[in-house]
Amino acid sequence: METRGKFSFPGGVHPPEGKQYSQGRPIEVIPNPKQVVVLLSQHLGAPCKPVVNKKDTVKAGQVIGSSDAFVSAAIHSPVNGTVKDITLAPHPVLGRTMAVVIDVDSSQNEPKLPVAGRFDAKFDVSKWTSEQICRAIKDAGIVGMGGAGFPARVKIEPNPAMPKTILIVNGCECEPFLTCDYRVMLEWTWQVLAGIRLTAKAAGVEKIRIGIEDNKPEAITIFNNAIETLGNEEDIQVVPVKTKYPQGGERQLIRAVWNKIVPTNSIPPVIGACVVNVATAAAIAEAVVFGNPLTHRVVSVTGRAICKPGNYYCPLGISVQELIDYCGGLTETAAKVVMGGPMMGFAIADFSTPLTKTNGGLTFLTRKEVTESKFNQTQTACIRCGRCLAACPEKLNPTKIAHAVKANKLDVAQEQYFMSACIECGCCSYVCPANIELTGYIKTGKLLVARARKKA
Ligand code: SF4
Ligand code: SF4
Repeated sequence: METRGKFSFPGGVHPPEGKQYSQGRPIEVIPNPKQVVVLLSQHLGAPCKPVVNKKDTVKAGQVIGSSDAFVSAAIHSPVNGTVKDITLAPHPVLGRTMAVVIDVDSSQNEPKLPVAGRFDAKFDVSKWTSEQICRAIKDAGIVGMGGAGFPARVKIEPNPAMPKTILIVNGCECEPFLTCDYRVMLEWTWQVLAGIRLTAKAAGVEKIRIGIEDNKPEAITIFNNAIETLGNEEDIQVVPVKTKYPQGGERQLIRAVWNKIVPTNSIPPVIGACVVNVATAAAIAEAVVFGNPLTHRVVSVTGRAICKPGNYYCPLGISVQELIDYCGGLTETAAKVVMGGPMMGFAIADFSTPLTKTNGGLTFLTRKEVTESKFNQTQTACIRCGRCLAACPEKLNPTKIAHAVKANKLDVAQEQYFMSACIECGCCSYVCPANIELTGYIKTGKLLVARARKKA
C-alpha cells in the first residue's frame, strides 16, 4: 500500500518533528486528581454560564455550563464530586476566565476508561438518523479537538444554503512534538472510523477522505487495512499527504486532499467541504453510541524537559502541575512550558492552568532549546529576502502586514493586505533570517481590530 504522500499545498515549512519523545508511548489512563478546574470557555463562540451552584453535588457527565447562543458548546463535569467554587481561573489563551472548581469525591474516584475496545468492523451506522447524530454531538458539547475548538454540531449539521459534498478527516497532526492524534489513530482505529462514518451521515455526504501525513506510515496502513475490512460499500479513502507544516490547517488540508481552494476570508462549507479531526471523530462515536459527553481527552506530555513523556487520557480540568507530577516532574534543564506544540502553542507560567477540550499537548523545552531558538535571537532590520512570502500558506505578505500594524495603520493591514486571512501558523516568523516576530505583530493587529469592533 502507498504510504508516501504525493499531495500538499503551496508554502509551509518543515521544522524538526520532535515526535520521538512520545510517539512510541501507548495511551495511558491517568488517575483522577483531587480537584478539577473546568473552564467555561473551551470553544470558539459564546462562553458558557454556570448552571450549578457552590456546594452542589455533581455527577460525572452532568452539564455544569451552558449557553443559549447558536455558536457555543455545553460543558460537563468529568468527575463525581462537589462544587467547591465558581471563580476566575487561568486560561491557556484568554488570561483568566470563569471556571467551576470541583472537589473529586474520593469514594468514587475510579478514572473513566476509554471505550475504544467496544468498537469493531461490525459497527452499523444505519442505526442512527442524521438528526439523532447531530443532537448527540450537541448534547455532548463536542468541539473541534484539533485546536480551533469550533462547536462540532454547527460545522456538521446540514445547511440547505451550503450543501456539503465531502468529509475530509484531519489525521495530519503536523504540529511538531504532538503525538496524541497519532496514538488515537493507532489504538482507537475502529472508534475513529465509526465517528467518521457517523459524521458523514450527519452531514449528508457520501465521499470521505482521510488525510494522514506520510511521517505516520503505520497509521496510513492501519486505516487502509480497516477500510479494506469494511468492504467497498462506502466511498472512504486514505490520502497520504506530504509531511509539512501546517498540513493540518483546514484550508491547507482541503487543498492537499481535494485540490480545491477555500476563498480568502471564507469557510470550507462554502465549497461543500466539512473537516473534522480524528480525535473529534472518536468523541462523536462515543457520544452517539454511549451518550457520553466530552469530558476527557488524550494529551501528549512531551519534550526533553519532562521526565516521563507520553500520551495520557485525562479528565478536562486537570492542572498542568498534576500532569507534571504524574509524569515524574521536570528535568533540571527545564526552561519553558508550552500548552500545545512549539509552532502554535502558548507559553504558560502558571502551572495551575487546567486542560481544556482543545489542548492536545504540553511541550516542555530545555534551557538550551530556548536560548538557541531563533525567537530568542536579536531582531534585525528586514533584508527584503521574501522568505516570509514564500513560506506563507495563505499567500499573504507578512512583512507588509507587520509594518502596517507597527505603524498603527490597522485599516491598511486589513483592507490592503488581508490581515484577517492570516491563520497564525507562525511559518513567516520561523523562516525570517532577521528574527522578526511577524506572527506576533499580526496577532496583535487582529486583536486590536477585534477590540475596536467590540467597542463600536
Ligand atoms: S502571515 Fe499568517 S498565515 Fe501567513 S505565514 Fe505568517 S502566520 Fe502564517
Ligand atoms: S523573511 Fe524577514 S527579512 Fe525576509 S522579507 Fe520577510 S520580514 Fe523581511
